[in-house]
Amino acid sequence: MTTAILSALPEEQGSLVSALQAPERIEHAARTFWRGRLHGHDVVLALSGIGKVAAATTAAALAERFAVRRMVFTGVAGGIGDGVQVGDVVVARDYLQHDMDASPIFERWLVPGHAGVCMACDAPLTAILLEACSACLAGFSAGFDHESESAPQAARLHHGLMVSGDRFVSTAAESQRLRAELLAAGHDALAVEMEGAAVAQVCRDYGLPFAAVRTISDRADDSAHVDFPHFVRHVAGPRADAIIHRLLQLL
Ligand code: SAH
Repeated sequence: MTTAILSALPEEQGSLVSALQAPERIEHAARTFWRGRLHGHDVVLALSGIGKVAAATTAAALAERFAVRRMVFTGVAGGIGDGVQVGDVVVARDYLQHDMDASPIFERWLVPGHAGVCMACDAPLTAILLEACSACLAGFSAGFDHESESAPQAARLHHGLMVSGDRFVSTAAESQRLRAELLAAGHDALAVEMEGAAVAQVCRDYGLPFAAVRTISDRADDSAHVDFPHFVRHVAGPRADAIIHRLLQLL
């Protein structure tokens, strides 16, 4: 059974490519895929690029061309939930597309043709991902806090709703509005990013198990554009390495 490990950006892939046994580089659909073996598993490492369409194209290629049987996304996200801080880790329970709006014909955020607004991740695969993350957590300190001079707090693990849309959320006003509108409809979103919900939708269509983990790189606020690049450069890679190695050992 081949497992796909997806990330949006090369930094979010860490050094997984160099850890592959029998690596094979494949150029397809304007993307680079790496096939190989890791901890006894057949894997394909893929970079989606940024945004929902890019991620959906990558996920469809993984299903069709590479015949993968499950997908795991690893990357970074903006924290919007209460107490979801830079350096924390969020494992998705389910996903919603926060920029999908065909109201008043359809319920806001519903992808027409799907049963509900939230798309659930695969429970058994997510449970193993949670176990991998908690095993790694002791080794993680919070990534970066530009406001505080004090020692960083220990990173925490969260599990819940993640939301995706084709926007880098980078003002406190926008992230507060996003969170408040979702909360008013009963959706307690922990983090915002730009790809996961698209991969969840493709995996649902193909009947493939999907799980996702994101390390919080910024608070989706006015300093997000400062925090994000720093975090991606220095913290995202080692996090992906630790979590994915542990996950594959547990699978
Ligand atoms: N200009 C940036 C673009 C980054 S987009 C660049 O250097 O390439 C942000 C990426 O990180 C996306 O892949 C998204 O999934 C994730 N992300 C992190 N913080 C985010 C936020 N606050 N809002 C939306 N996506 C975020």
